[in-house]
Amino acid sequence: MKKLSGIPVSDGIAIGRVLKLVKKEHTVEAYTIREEDVDREIGRFTDALNKVSCQIQALYESTKQKLNEEEAGIFAAHLSVAEDPMIEDGVKDRVRDERMNVEQALKLTLDEIEELFAALDDEYLRERAADVRDVGGQIMDCLLGTASLDLSFLPYPCIIAAKDLTPSETMSMDFSKTMGFMTEQGGRTSHTAIISRSLEVPAVVGIGPMLDELEDGTWVIMDALDGTVIVNPDAGQIEFYKNRQEQYETGKRLLAELKDKPAETKDHAFFELCANIGNPGDADKVLDYGAEGIGLYRTEFLYMGNSHFPTEEEQFAAYKVVAEKMGDKPVIIRTLDIGGDKELPYYTFEHEENPFLGWRAIRICLDRVDVFKTQLRAILRAGAYGNLRIMYPMIISKEELMQANAILETCKGELRSEGVEFNPDIPVGIMVETPAAVAMADVLAKYADFFSIGTNDLCQYTLAVDRGNGKIADRYNPLHPAVLRSIKKVIDASHAQGKYTGMCGEFAGDERAAVLLAGFGLDEFSMTASSIPKIKKCIRGLQITEAKQIAMKALEAETIEEVETLIGYRK
Ligand code: PEP
Ligand code: MG
Repeated sequence: MKKLSGIPVSDGIAIGRVLKLVKKEHTVEAYTIREEDVDREIGRFTDALNKVSCQIQALYESTKQKLNEEEAGIFAAHLSVAEDPMIEDGVKDRVRDERMNVEQALKLTLDEIEELFAALDDEYLRERAADVRDVGGQIMDCLLGTASLDLSFLPYPCIIAAKDLTPSETMSMDFSKTMGFMTEQGGRTSHTAIISRSLEVPAVVGIGPMLDELEDGTWVIMDALDGTVIVNPDAGQIEFYKNRQEQYETGKRLLAELKDKPAETKDHAFFELCANIGNPGDADKVLDYGAEGIGLYRTEFLYMGNSHFPTEEEQFAAYKVVAEKMGDKPVIIRTLDIGGDKELPYYTFEHEENPFLGWRAIRICLDRVDVFKTQLRAILRAGAYGNLRIMYPMIISKEELMQANAILETCKGELRSEGVEFNPDIPVGIMVETPAAVAMADVLAKYADFFSIGTNDLCQYTLAVDRGNGKIADRYNPLHPAVLRSIKKVIDASHAQGKYTGMCGEFAGDERAAVLLAGFGLDEFSMTASSIPKIKKCIRGLQITEAKQIAMKALEAETIEEVETLIGYRK
């Protein structure tokens, strides 16, 4: 028996036999070709590239069918890598100018691109390097005639063990026999992790060297709830984990049973539970989890997964799909929140020393009125097909809200004179995610129809702790009394004006927070759809009178530790 541990990225427990995926390393020979062979050599490359593009296109289509548009976006990105002149020109120039054989030319080109990406510390661009490696590896397979791993046939139900899995390998797998994935490399945000969560296949990544310890058929227990992997478990351990697996499955079933029950406390206080989405396709899943609406539709994915600023028609089509799917349930569409750590493949942002304090979100929209108006017109038009609401991100002042609303009014005027159908009464709210918006909440509440607290940013800006910096991750804690006091202040300010406050940051889906947020009087909780049942369970277990008392005490707490003690949570 041997115990390993890694990063759990997709919940579940798998007990089964391993199937090892060991990829053949490419052996690339280097030689000089003759002048008259240059065209033939380039032709080989073009054929391989075309073949790979067709394979990727097929994966794109099947992923869209099996999962949704968002996951399929990974393969849209692969297609753009395959079509990127960086690879094609790099290879052709080397073959032509240096008379290199095409395999060697491809290897050097890929190494060069990888080095280029590795030197950057931007996470988004590093992910693009993995895309280049994936696509480049496929082209190399074609050239060398090495078969890429055929995972569409798995000999037995198994837990796949690999050094790493590319999205293409993951998506071509026979899911009926895949009990889980475990990989030596990878992190929480790797594409494989994202895909495994969507497929609801348990996965543990970043385990470190393990393949040498395993044979095909080796029994393992993979606990993807806490990241433990037990190789060659004994009978007692198998018994223990079978129980744990059963408990987990029962819990999941129980939560599913709550789907159609209201988020109502024992003493009959009601809360609205909504979901956050990034793509129109996500709206189906949202209803399965019993969401009462969409509290945050992050529209930036529509911009990020595109090769150009999406047109009014493209946006209208996407928003209309969501509006119609959700019927009379509210859908809050957040206007473009780009900048910070979110970039666009077709637009170069000037380098900024502090991008999170820089040109992002509403600041960009107010400067690029053309881009903003295109989106507002699309939302107004789609508003005629459902219960849509507009929400501006990163607001710090009344002036910004007024300026954005003036642009919205211009759009309404234009649509009216064009005779285009739209909803003129669409409610307009703001995200409260800056300390400035908290301080001015009483003023902003007069002019906004609703608030939604973005705790992801509010926490980083209130505590001055970068939300993505692992080195200070233990300081990023929304249970900090400063964050809790801000939340309460915002809720009270909105209620004083007869408005409502939701929350769409991750804190809304945190079980520890439910008692405090309910006690503060938060009206709507919006979160990843799969978290809805567990938060509903928490709320249904509360007495609102008690929750209010605990929440009031939390406002007087002097430390995070005191808050944690109050809510019965200590690490
Ligand atoms: C937030 O800041 O809490 C939020 C929901 O916005 P995002 O995570 O997209 O920045
Ligand atoms: Mg935010």
